[in-house]
Amino acid sequence: MQAAQGERLEVLLSAQQIASRIQNLGKRITLDYQNKPLILIGILKGSFIFLADLVRYIDLPISVDFMALSSYGSSTKSSGVVRIIKDLDHSIEGHHVLVVEDIVDTGLTLNYIYGHVKSRGALSVKICSLLDKPDRRQVAVPLHYKGFEIPDEFVVGYGLDVGERYRNLPDVCKLVRTDA
Ligand code: 5GP
Repeated sequence: MQAAQGERLEVLLSAQQIASRIQNLGKRITLDYQNKPLILIGILKGSFIFLADLVRYIDLPISVDFMALSSYGSSTKSSGVVRIIKDLDHSIEGHHVLVVEDIVDTGLTLNYIYGHVKSRGALSVKICSLLDKPDRRQVAVPLHYKGFEIPDEFVVGYGLDVGERYRNLPDVCKLVRTDA
């Protein structure tokens, strides 16, 4: 895909690398949740492609729900403000929950979600994130399943956007501003 004017895209993780890592995560989750009722909660919108690929590597009778929270908007800096835009459709009581996120940056979003979901009566709550930017962490969050650790760069693609653009890139790319 061609980058917008004033922007350049550099592949950080190829579609092939991502697919093989997700297959591995799916296998681990399948082993860990044998005979346990499991709900995966995708955090919209960034996790939609990751979740879609991950569930196909989980060989268990799972269900899926979604939450949406306020995010960066069109800027590339965290506002630190977390607000629920869409809550869960179904009760998670009596189920094990796996929260599926695209990326953990400051940790503020996942810290909030973790507390929120834990208070809803789940048997257990674990977190699975495709990407982890540990350098920018402000709040410690338990990352039980992690795809890749990446440096402190703003990335797009494979579900991640900037101002709603680039979500459909098959690779995770570093977004470089060329007009700065
Ligand atoms: P946190 O609350 O951990 O700072 O941020 C989590 C959210 O910020 C992610 O779910 C994602 O929406 C957004 N975010 C953080 N880093 C990046 C990045 O490098 N690229 C994009 N596109 N979004 C990011």
